[in-house]
Amino acid sequence: MLISLDDRLSFEKSKRGRRAVRLPASRFSEAKPLETIPQCLLRQTSIGFPELSEPDIVRHFINLSRKNFSVDTHFYPLGSCTMKYNPKINEWAARQAKFAALHPLQVESTAQGTMEVLSELEEGLKEISGMDAFTLQPAAGAHGELTGMMLVRAYHASRRETHRTKVLVPDSSHGTNPASAALFGYHVVEIKSNSLGCVDMEDLKSHLDEHVACLMLTNPNTLGLFEKNILEITRLVHEKGGLLYYDGANLNPLLGIARPGDMGFDIIHINLHKTFSTPHGGGGPGAGPVGVKKHLMPFLPGPLVSKTKEGYRWVSPGPRSIGRVKLFHGNIGVILRAYAYLKTLGKEGLRKVSEAAILNANYMKEKLKDTFTVATVGPCMHEFVLSLKSFGAYGVHAGDVGKRLLDFGFHAPTVHFPLVVSEALMIEPTETEAIETLDRFIDTMKLIAKEIVADPEMIKTAPHTLPVRRPDDVLAARKPILSYRDQVREKVLLAEAVA
Ligand SMILES: *Cc1c(COP(=O)(O)O)cnc(C)c1O
Repeated sequence: MLISLDDRLSFEKSKRGRRAVRLPASRFSEAKPLETIPQCLLRQTSIGFPELSEPDIVRHFINLSRKNFSVDTHFYPLGSCTMKYNPKINEWAARQAKFAALHPLQVESTAQGTMEVLSELEEGLKEISGMDAFTLQPAAGAHGELTGMMLVRAYHASRRETHRTKVLVPDSSHGTNPASAALFGYHVVEIKSNSLGCVDMEDLKSHLDEHVACLMLTNPNTLGLFEKNILEITRLVHEKGGLLYYDGANLNPLLGIARPGDMGFDIIHINLHKTFSTPHGGGGPGAGPVGVKKHLMPFLPGPLVSKTKEGYRWVSPGPRSIGRVKLFHGNIGVILRAYAYLKTLGKEGLRKVSEAAILNANYMKEKLKDTFTVATVGPCMHEFVLSLKSFGAYGVHAGDVGKRLLDFGFHAPTVHFPLVVSEALMIEPTETEAIETLDRFIDTMKLIAKEIVADPEMIKTAPHTLPVRRPDDVLAARKPILSYRDQVREKVLLAEAVA
């Protein structure tokens, strides 16, 4: 990759003395506040912020944002992520000053509206999931899992069953499940999948003993399948005294159709930022409410919102609570969007969301099954997995196809995940896409299949139309360049090395 001198120079836009905002002189300057700060704490040199005019700043960020692919600009079939269209009315609701300008420490009587939203969302989630109570504190799905593990340990400790140190996790579960259990100090035991992509019941039985604290089940699993033996799984684990954790990040195909609470699960987390319409990706914000059955309610984080005759009140949790898992009451903006989403769709609307999500995925799977290998047998839920193994002879990998799709204006599906499928391409169309979009994607995939045979080198070097082509994603994770100044320096070094 050659970097022109122009490129190097054009990135640095700072000009000495240029300003976007001029602050008025401080009316406290008479008081000489600097004199009250110890000399050793005062900055001796300039902080070195870039100096730019307002138009420079606006153009810089708008131009950067236009290089992005987003749900508002492109079809985004990123499996396991539910990148659905998020109705703008939810944004409007979350932006209302009467919510957005509230301080989290405001007294109850002045925050009744927000507290009502929290309480009503809890009621809605209870009805949707079949659980008895929720905490809205966790800020993400993985944070919900960690909260779940804390609840599991608190529950077993209260029964003096501290010997329960194992958490069972099927190999088709989401990667955060074993990570959360291990982070919390549990010994993670992987349960194998059978040839149909579901939990291998014999393998499960062989690991069931009195050391099992919990089984974490991602359902639908990462192959897009509903676990066939789910009632048998919950029965067997309960029989040995273990708890059941439901990873409900992908609740999109279940709304109004099936409830984890009815299947025997004790704990569930739900990703509001996937199923309940908050734009996400790139690290947040999110919300991963955790729901529990009655026997785990005493351990929930607090404070909890409670509806009384005098209005809504914050209630301290009991002595067995695991304590707070987040400052204040959760990511309220995300909670507000979820609430608006529930209210605008209603019961019937929610069920239609799931039906359309399932229909769209099965439609695409059927249309693509003759060109690509589908990793599973039979119908899928809201997403499906293709294997590109048969294209191995051309030296083309799933990631290359993801890159080529960018040239056609599609965000890449999830690639090389789940790990149980080699050369996996995981596609989740979601319910918000029209059939024309699905067809355009299907046609493009078929075209790419032909391109692989005709010109594999072209696929391996895609994308060919975007300003950023193949960044080294390993290096980006291990040695991230976090400052734009570093980036200028790296670019210069790189250009010199190439020259
Ligand atoms: C996205 C996802 C998670 C993790 O959620 P985060 O909010 O990204 O932490 C967990 N499980 C499944 C099945 C998911 O799809």
